[in-house]
Amino acid sequence: MSISETQDIPGFCCLCRSRCGATFEVRDGQLLAARPAPEHPTGKALCLKGKAAPEIWSNPDRVLYPMRRTNPKSSSDPGWERVSWEAALTDIAGRLNKIRTKHGAEAVGFGVTTPSGTPMSDSIDWVERFIRLFGSPNTVYGTEICNWHKDHAHRFTYGSGILFPDYGNADAILLWGFNPSAVWLDQATQIAEARARGAKIISVDPRRAGYAQGADHWMRVLPGQDGPLALGLANLLIERGAYDADFLRRWSNASFLVREDTGEFLRESDLNGDAGAKPLCRRERSR
Ligand code: SF4
Repeated sequence: MSISETQDIPGFCCLCRSRCGATFEVRDGQLLAARPAPEHPTGKALCLKGKAAPEIWSNPDRVLYPMRRTNPKSSSDPGWERVSWEAALTDIAGRLNKIRTKHGAEAVGFGVTTPSGTPMSDSIDWVERFIRLFGSPNTVYGTEICNWHKDHAHRFTYGSGILFPDYGNADAILLWGFNPSAVWLDQATQIAEARARGAKIISVDPRRAGYAQGADHWMRVLPGQDGPLALGLANLLIERGAYDADFLRRWSNASFLVREDTGEFLRESDLNGDAGAKPLCRRERSR
């Protein structure tokens, strides 16, 4: 009788966008365990979801093949039957083409799950490419509350999505409503390393959770009071001249003139047409 061997296979957890480096223990084609891979750049820890990979992998309810419903939706028994990929793709393509021919591509809306918290991370680009090729502008994402401002507000404002902080060289790290131990393990381990070499941690959070515990400064805002705190901090920076004027002039509207009477930005029409405009001030104070 041959004794089967356990193999350690290097890889990464694909269950969310963090893509933590991992070692997978496999025997007889069965996944037995997922462990951290400290030698991997993002592999110093795995969260509970990553560690549960063997349970997810072997769950009897996991859908492994294309399944076709054979009973109407009103039936309590869907009557699922297994079909080949060829049959499934041909069926779906035929139905989509029929709708597009009759009503136009816009008549189809595509539902996509979040690429941040699911294995969709590695395939979302292909799905989006397919939807564009199909011609529909209607994509409905299920996503986190943090997603759209992270990806789009920053891009509209600064020209790119939010980049990763340089934790490795930071002396102070401000975590504003961000608890990486719960949502982005790789960042949490980088912050732990920065802290171990002396970086200060400032946490803005109503709850004493995650890095708010033991932070050098815990700023316990009431829910909804982040705006006043941000304005107060911005005012402090201006009062102390602790800002990069060249950067602000180039990358923000902080150097624009502001009308004292309305608080609106000064426009050309104000200078040419509104003789009654009250005195103007510079928003940016001299240093
Ligand atoms: S944070 Fe958890 S789920 Fe996400 S990649 Fe890492 S181990 Fe997997």
